[in-house]
Amino acid sequence: MIPMSSRLTQMVQTSLTIKVFAICFVSVHVPLLVFIAFLAAGYAAKPEPVLLLLLAATVAGTTICLLSLWWVIRPLRQLAHAIKIYRANGTPVRMQIDRKDEIGLLASTVTAMVAETETLMTKLRHQAMTDLLTGLGNRRWLNERAAEELARAERLGEPLSVLVLDLDRFKGINDGHGHETGDRVLVATGEIVRTCLRPYDLAARIGGEEFCIMLPRTSLDEAEAIGERLRTTLATTTVPPLRQGRMTASFGLCAAGPGDRLPDLLLRADFALYEAKRDGRNCIRRAQEGHGEEAMTSAKRVPVKAASPINGKHIL
Ligand code: GH3
Ligand code: MG
Ligand code: MG
Repeated sequence: MIPMSSRLTQMVQTSLTIKVFAICFVSVHVPLLVFIAFLAAGYAAKPEPVLLLLLAATVAGTTICLLSLWWVIRPLRQLAHAIKIYRANGTPVRMQIDRKDEIGLLASTVTAMVAETETLMTKLRHQAMTDLLTGLGNRRWLNERAAEELARAERLGEPLSVLVLDLDRFKGINDGHGHETGDRVLVATGEIVRTCLRPYDLAARIGGEEFCIMLPRTSLDEAEAIGERLRTTLATTTVPPLRQGRMTASFGLCAAGPGDRLPDLLLRADFALYEAKRDGRNCIRRAQEGHGEEAMTSAKRVPVKAASPINGKHIL
């Protein structure tokens, strides 16, 4: 059997109600207790000293009450502060709340909820930026990362190249062998892209069977060599039941210039890609001088969809 004293201690430790009640009870009764002690000590109950004593005891009781309540409420203030910081900066604050009462329970529940929310947010952020089929980044991710990389390249005066690749006659694979085979080709392409690149290169699936690879610190010649490696690897990889050489891609390549943003680069690389398609596919073409301007001018005249060279092939 648990002794009475430890049961009482446990009750005080685990119940906020008992804590607050104990504080109020003791604080309110300090004057009475002091008065009883005063009488028990044999002092005469003259009005002036008694009044002074009661006044001092009331002040002492009030101070005890205030300090104790401040101590009891302190974890709630810490908790409120931590929640405020988390809401403002999204940074979880570590709290040292070692209490077993309702406030301790509240603190541990909030801490667990924040941790769960953080895990969920990380997962959602990752999903929102990832292409589920290939595991590469998606267009949104590329948009975000490209801005950083372009700014960095411009600041440091480093070259940066962009490769866009589009699988050749992919619709034929879907139509002839089923969508599942098409998906497997996309997964294999994603895998090849991933293994052919360096850790600081950025690769994303930006459309159905279109991929974009951003190559920081890379000249056009180096980028072409990387593209060539990718092109041959794709052309020599077999995805059953397709015969070897059926999985090929065409590539468009361009270099970033001062002030270029991702859409400018994609436009120029797409024009080069269009040339690669026109030249028989399974090859790499570099963007030529004026490709971007040409596209900008025609984009003003025709709807955006038709101005894109990739879409353009549909209207040929
Ligand atoms: P080209 O050589 O000129 O690029 O011809 P293409 O057949 O590759 O190009 P087209 O744009 O005509 O066809 C692209 C096809 O990609 C059409 C679409 O159904 C297919 N596609 C888009 N997204 C997916 C996907 O996630 N999975 C599969 N299996 N197919 C997809
Ligand atoms: Mg294609
Ligand atoms: Mg396409």
